[in-house]
Amino acid sequence: MYDYDLLVVGSANADLVIGVERRPAAGETVLGSDLAVHPGGKGANQVVAAARLGARTALLARVGDDAYGRLLLDSQRAAGVDTVGVLVGGAPTGVALITVDPSGDNSIVVSPGANGRLTPEDVRAAACLFQTSRVVSAQLEIPLETVVAVAASLAPDCRFVLNPSPPRPLPAVLLAACDPLIVNEHEARVLLGEAYDPASGPEDWARILLAKGPRSVVVTLGAEGALVASGEGVERVASVRVDAVDTTGAGDSFTAALAWKLGTGASLAEAAAYAARVGAVAVTRRGAQESFPTAEEVEALHRAGGESAPGGAAGVPLRGEAL
Ligand code: ADP
Repeated sequence: MYDYDLLVVGSANADLVIGVERRPAAGETVLGSDLAVHPGGKGANQVVAAARLGARTALLARVGDDAYGRLLLDSQRAAGVDTVGVLVGGAPTGVALITVDPSGDNSIVVSPGANGRLTPEDVRAAACLFQTSRVVSAQLEIPLETVVAVAASLAPDCRFVLNPSPPRPLPAVLLAACDPLIVNEHEARVLLGEAYDPASGPEDWARILLAKGPRSVVVTLGAEGALVASGEGVERVASVRVDAVDTTGAGDSFTAALAWKLGTGASLAEAAAYAARVGAVAVTRRGAQESFPTAEEVEALHRAGGESAPGGAAGVPLRGEAL
């Protein structure tokens, strides 16, 4: 019997967002909009996305003993996430300073803060969370050695899902634990390294990445959907046509949904198809965590016939917001 459908090990950040007419040059000051503070970080985003779909979730993370840490704990609890594994103290809460210009382009400075202090010892001390979780997912906004410790702490039947973001070369022991490794195009290129060939396509990337050791690989392709690769071959996952307004958090919601679905016994292709619908709803709304859909909202998109229907998929019910 599992207590958690999904345990996410990863980052929790406060995203501090200011709109600007233009970015300041060196030594210059510009005035911006009122400050908006949002809960973020890939770990926090993924666990909230899964909880919103109805998964029983827990987060293993570290925040500072400060106001942003409390904001993050409150937002996790409000989403229904078990925060028993969120450690407090050691450094200030991780922060992303984000300026957005009128064209929507972001400039971001990240201070990892407490995320950088989540250690392999913290992972080993959380053994009870690993023993009671059906699926564990991680990203790379915490130290790499901590993610390696996560892979070494998995219970025998537990499935491990890794989104290597921000991307960097990965040790073989970590690659071998991934089932699947989930990458977007940028992450795929970095992981392929010298094996990247500009003339190659996503199917080739998936095959080469699979040969590096993961039991399965998923390549996400934005509006083009995704593809899944395993020992059984490479399969395309239908794209879902929606009017995208903000793709922030698409990858996080996709990964969370896929990880949760795998734990319910879905095949990799089935889980990825469901995750594509979740990602599609998320891009129809602004923001990250506030854009993540409930299971009912994903089902409504399905009924509206969004998958691969050119120009289709209007009518996704939104929470008090127009498309
Ligand atoms: P990331 O956010 O990590 O760059 P992607 O942009 O590939 O990841 O998005 C993840 C998934 O979300 C995609 O595989 C797709 O299923 C869905 N998605 C993203 N953008 C769109 C879009 N414009 N229209 C429909 N689905 C999208």
